[in-house]
Amino acid sequence: MRPNILNPLFAPITSLPGIGQRLAKLVEKLAGPLVVDLAGHLPSGLIDRRHQPHLSTAESGLIATIIVRVERHLKAHNPRHPYKVRCSDPTGFIDLVFFNAREDYLLRMLPLGQMRAVSGRIDRFGGELNMVHPDHVVPAEEIAQIQIMEPVYPMTAGLAPKVLRKAIDAALERLPRLPEWIDPAIMCQRHWTGWRDSLLAAHHPESEGDLSALAPARMRLAYDELLSNQLALALVRLRNKRKAGRPNRGDGALRRRIICTLPYTLTRSQEQAVSEIVADMAAPTRMLRLLQGDVGSGKTVVALLAMANAVEAGGQAALLAPTDILARQHFATLEPLCKAIGLEIALLTGRDKGKARDAIVGGLASGELKLAVGTHALMQEDVAFADLRLAIVDEQHRFGVEQRMALADKGAGVDLLVMTATPIPRTLMMTAYGDIDVSRLTEKPAGRQPIDTRTVPLERLHEVADALKRAIAQGARIYWVCPLVDESEVVDLAAATERHRMLRQMFGDRVGLVHGKQKAAERDAAMNAFAAGDLNILVATTVIEVGVDVPEATVMVVEHAERFGLAQLHQLRGRVGRGLAKSSCLLLYQAPLGETAKARLQILRETEDGFRIAEEDLRLRGGGELLGTRQSGLPQFHYADLAVHGDLLAMARDDARLLVERDPLLKSDRGQALRMLLYLFRQDSAIKTLASG
Ligand code: ADP
Ligand code: MG
Repeated sequence: MRPNILNPLFAPITSLPGIGQRLAKLVEKLAGPLVVDLAGHLPSGLIDRRHQPHLSTAESGLIATIIVRVERHLKAHNPRHPYKVRCSDPTGFIDLVFFNAREDYLLRMLPLGQMRAVSGRIDRFGGELNMVHPDHVVPAEEIAQIQIMEPVYPMTAGLAPKVLRKAIDAALERLPRLPEWIDPAIMCQRHWTGWRDSLLAAHHPESEGDLSALAPARMRLAYDELLSNQLALALVRLRNKRKAGRPNRGDGALRRRIICTLPYTLTRSQEQAVSEIVADMAAPTRMLRLLQGDVGSGKTVVALLAMANAVEAGGQAALLAPTDILARQHFATLEPLCKAIGLEIALLTGRDKGKARDAIVGGLASGELKLAVGTHALMQEDVAFADLRLAIVDEQHRFGVEQRMALADKGAGVDLLVMTATPIPRTLMMTAYGDIDVSRLTEKPAGRQPIDTRTVPLERLHEVADALKRAIAQGARIYWVCPLVDESEVVDLAAATERHRMLRQMFGDRVGLVHGKQKAAERDAAMNAFAAGDLNILVATTVIEVGVDVPEATVMVVEHAERFGLAQLHQLRGRVGRGLAKSSCLLLYQAPLGETAKARLQILRETEDGFRIAEEDLRLRGGGELLGTRQSGLPQFHYADLAVHGDLLAMARDDARLLVERDPLLKSDRGQALRMLLYLFRQDSAIKTLASG
């Protein structure tokens, strides 16, 4: 149960004074539904109102705070003209200018003959001073009410800055004093203040420097967030380690036979990965290993050898894929290899019903069936395994920690192998997996040729089309990816549909279309037609990123490449260059390119090394949005920016490891404080692992 002291923070924002339903909607869109979200909505800018000139010395274009006397209200006769209020100080005059203003309101705010403190941007037109819509107007004696250093918050349409400020202030009033969870030595060394003081300080910047991700208050909050993340992972890992594993030691017989039937030899890193996995499985503890390798690096066969090892050891193995397409693809690769050595493997997806499904479920339960590939359908309650020893999750980040565990829970002490095609930088990997062991496939299988990557401005689309015509004449297979336009599937779809129509006019029925809104069967049909060579061009929204394997495809066209993240472009490009033929990738962009987009495309031209690309991606993102990871399921941080706070992450990992070692149930005083931290950052599920011991 969440400690009571945190309840005010986890109340809905409507519990704050002055926030009704209408406002709550806007605030929620901006910050989130709870008081704690609003308190975490930090300023992105600062208005300096210290400049207090006399009117004779006021400079045009600057924010100033002035004390003036209200002289006259100049009503506009034409409603399209502004309402003006003329004011003075002993050195001159200024007009306060209001559009669409109500007279009674202005008369109340600026009564004739009264002294007012006014703050806003002063402009000079000809000789006349103007201030359009002052930001603040208060009675002169209350000038202290005007915040001299005013934080500026990220806004959303329809929400007035003042209203938001008030709401945030109300949220900040609710901040409880919490016991300190950070190691005192770190606090000291970093000159950090407590959580509450840091959050307050982050809301009250006194200089531009205070807005930086490197300001002590922001660093502290980032550290809190990273520590909660690392601690949660460390606790989950501890729980899994504690569940005893079993030594799964195969005799190598099946593995040898598989290797003999392969039409190729394993790369060195594939061999290395297999031996690391086999060693982990033989150990009495549970395996928790990540197999990381670029698209096309050959993870599937490594997975198969691991599965064979489980069978040799007398048990079963299952491979879980995030989508139907991927599950089918894995099955299509694995089945012939299994068949060749007389091993049965089943495919189980949501589409399997009735007798076919019963047979598979029965086989898994009796143990007659040793291997299964499938989707979430594998995790349904009535799917039981006689003796599951190895669970492999090909996740491409679409599964969370919990789901990963769900499959492993279908056996006792199940070894877990997670496969990912995203070459996640080490820092990011730590946030998603904590202390997981990693095998990396770093080489491309032999015989692969480098992909010729070019950037082409969109205006030259017709030249691209001409080149494709020549390629198609020689039987080429081409992916054509249409971009994410604005997060709206409808718009994306329109773009893809339109491009499909255009290409169909040029190439007739050799052009197919796949997108996320299609029925699975329809999509499969198009994919299969492309794989079979009945289509030459497959127009797609980014769904193909999910993973298709058509070794004959040699051209990848990405439209509006500038809108994609680097990692995403790399993944897309990886769909070609999988066979022996020379492949190319055309990145069509809309000129002019911004600096970052230019750098991104440049890197793609320079290298195909996924790990390097991933590191560059993290670097280029800077303080900005985590491109490409948004849909990825990797944890999203609110305070922490891994491009800047990488060292904090390493610190948090070490700290979390130590904490969990010394106080695995978080019982000490500091442990109790850390529980608070976990709740604060919504790591409730990690706390559940404490409860269940
Ligand atoms: P990933 O899952 O890592 O994207 P796959 O396992 O699907 O990659 O492998 C991609 C292709 O490469 C498959 O067609 C596979 O048969 C082939 N392949 C795998 N390992 C090798 C190897 N060592 N040498 C040559 N081809 C390989
Ligand atoms: Mg694969």
